[in-house]
Amino acid sequence: MLMKPKILLIYTGGTIGMIKDPATKALKAFNFKELLLHIPELRHLECEITTLSYDSPIDSSNMNLSHWQEMGSTINENYDNYDGFVILHGSDTMAYTGSALSFMFEHLTKPIILTGSQLPIGDLRTDAKENLITTIELAAQRNAGRPIIQEVCIYFEYQLYRANRTVKVSADRFEAFTSPNYPPLAVSGVHLKIEQNLLWHHDYDEFAAVMDDKHAFAKAKKSNQIATIQRMNYRPDFVKEVVVLKLFPAITKEVVEAICSIQGLRGIVLETYGSGNAPSESWFIEILKKTLDRGVYIVNVTQCRGGAVDMGKYETSIQLKSIGMVSGKDITTESALAKMMYLLNYTNTLEDFKYYFEKSLRGELSI
Ligand code: ASP
Repeated sequence: MLMKPKILLIYTGGTIGMIKDPATKALKAFNFKELLLHIPELRHLECEITTLSYDSPIDSSNMNLSHWQEMGSTINENYDNYDGFVILHGSDTMAYTGSALSFMFEHLTKPIILTGSQLPIGDLRTDAKENLITTIELAAQRNAGRPIIQEVCIYFEYQLYRANRTVKVSADRFEAFTSPNYPPLAVSGVHLKIEQNLLWHHDYDEFAAVMDDKHAFAKAKKSNQIATIQRMNYRPDFVKEVVVLKLFPAITKEVVEAICSIQGLRGIVLETYGSGNAPSESWFIEILKKTLDRGVYIVNVTQCRGGAVDMGKYETSIQLKSIGMVSGKDITTESALAKMMYLLNYTNTLEDFKYYFEKSLRGELSI
């Protein structure tokens, strides 16, 4: 008999588990056990759920690098003991955490799905129950004994997204997230419809090696699908000396100069206009060039909700290309920041950084 899938449910905080403080009337995180009491339905799911909670759950606006690493190491340490991981997280910074986790886990063969809610679980009209129950169901989906989803995702309001493609777009609608440049991976309706062809597929070898499926492995090997056998690789180190600089029409030389000359700065995610355009004034280009020459990497991402950077398409981006800026293509700012923090730690030259940044590592950009 096939064993029930084992899911590790990690509670970090967020509105889902919050309650109104009687004194201040503000929402604050409360105890995980109380949260579970509100969802007795979890017991009826076709999987074994183990729960784990942060000692002090947080509002995700307090999220920092050490929290990312704490989540990462919890998953890494428990990787072989579970079939899937569900993280309850505040929605405010969920897209950043989801992006960071996607880079942390190379050759992932199991789902890591983040979810949360816009209304606390104790609220009559809460969106938390559906979000949590469906997320666990998705994390438990298997085919021939193997997890169907093998990447980091966000599930919110009937849609499953690739986490490193998401942005939070609403502070109050239940549809808090969107994935502007990549379609949802699954939609929950009467049936759970998973778009198999949109899922992130790493090489067949990892599948076979990790799941020890000798038959599938031999078949893949025969058809030359296997070059090397790779197991999940945990890479938790990020460089935090980075900044996001958003252009706006009245931006001054003083502001750009002040940001570019921050001591110890290693990288800038520059949010430009449209398809990667910026002022062509000489003071602007000169500051950026000097910054690049000092060894600070700059990635060009668009402020637009959808679409991609295409340096050289307009006159206003030709110079950015010629001074050596890296193209973020259609990556989100959240994902660009996480990817920059990750790659700054794992590459040594601008050439390497550029090569890996402009390439899809976890499905975070279209090529
Ligand atoms: N402020 C909350 C948080 O991000 C909002 C939410 O959970 O949706 O933790």
